[in-house]
Amino acid sequence: MLILPKFVYYEPRDMSEACKIMSDLNSNAKIIAGGTDILVNMKKGLLSPRYLVSIAKVSGLSEIGPVNGSISIGAHLIVAKLAEFEIIRKRLPSLAKAARALGSPLIRNRATIGGNIVTARPAADLPPPLLAMGAKVKLESVKGIREVALDDFFLAPGATIMRPDEILSRIVVDEMPPFTGSDYIKLGHRKSLEIAIVAVASRITLNSPDGVIKDAKVILSSVAPTAIHAVSAEKVLIGEKPTDALLEKAARLAGTDCTPITDIRGGAEYRCAMVEVLTKRTLLAAVKEAQG
Ligand SMILES: Cc1cc2nc3c(=O)[nH]c(=O)nc-3n(C[C@H](O)[C@H](O)[C@H](O)COP(=O)(O)OP(=O)(O)OC[C@H]3O[C@@H](n4cnc5c(N)ncnc54)[C@H](O)[C@@H]3O)c2cc1C
Repeated sequence: MLILPKFVYYEPRDMSEACKIMSDLNSNAKIIAGGTDILVNMKKGLLSPRYLVSIAKVSGLSEIGPVNGSISIGAHLIVAKLAEFEIIRKRLPSLAKAARALGSPLIRNRATIGGNIVTARPAADLPPPLLAMGAKVKLESVKGIREVALDDFFLAPGATIMRPDEILSRIVVDEMPPFTGSDYIKLGHRKSLEIAIVAVASRITLNSPDGVIKDAKVILSSVAPTAIHAVSAEKVLIGEKPTDALLEKAARLAGTDCTPITDIRGGAEYRCAMVEVLTKRTLLAAVKEAQG
């Protein structure tokens, strides 16, 4: 059995105390949220922070609710809860679907939304629907708060724009406009405890129930170093009626927008073919939901 290295544990009660600790300890400290990722990496010897700062008891970080036309989600909200909240199931259903697809009941009951974002894994389940919704994240430190679009957050596998003293405190998603629909589909070898071979999140906004596509987002996951927009698919959809032929064309273009690798879970060619299939399916579901 792998043994955890020694560390000093902090348990601040509010954000200003947490930020002060992170600033004082400099880059020797790491945040621990659910611990499903960091403790595994520490046991494997990949990480050995001298200090762990738990955000489990920081007030407000597990709360969720509407704020000025947006839905604000605390970074310490556990993944199992995300899928249960009515505000998420009704207003951001593809995020609830992604939460239900993450790991296993054991992992979902510990893992947090903030941890899933900060790990910046190319196959993480929650970033694709959040990117499709144009989510922003709030990063806090003793120097202040900055709000960053999730589109600008990820740099490479495991790398983000966060500074070592910053804490991701909230995820903010604007209320979806009328006639909007979304979907997320994850393809894995098994139904649970599976990292995606390919996953796609789509969001469609129509100008009226039987109108043209006003806005389109197609996010591809597990087929590039970070989750990416299928830019040519998004472009071809906007301003058009959502016919079967159009969705087919967008799906084909999405298959050319990705740059997957071949690994033990799937070949590059297979992944591109699956991007096409999942894009078509998520677009069909998103359009159906948008049409009401
Ligand atoms: C068996 C198993 C199966 C898994 N299956 C999946 C899966 O299907 N899909 C998937 O996406 N992931 C999966 N994971 C990965 C992992 O569980 C998730 O990424 C999880 O959401 C991480 O959240 P956490 O709260 O446990 O993060 P932690 O392990 O506590 O932290 C992860 C990293 O993020 C940092 N961090 C966490 N929160 C913050 C914050 N608020 N501010 C700043 N830094 C922060 C930590 O310092 C650490 O570097 C799996 C892991 C295991 C062990």
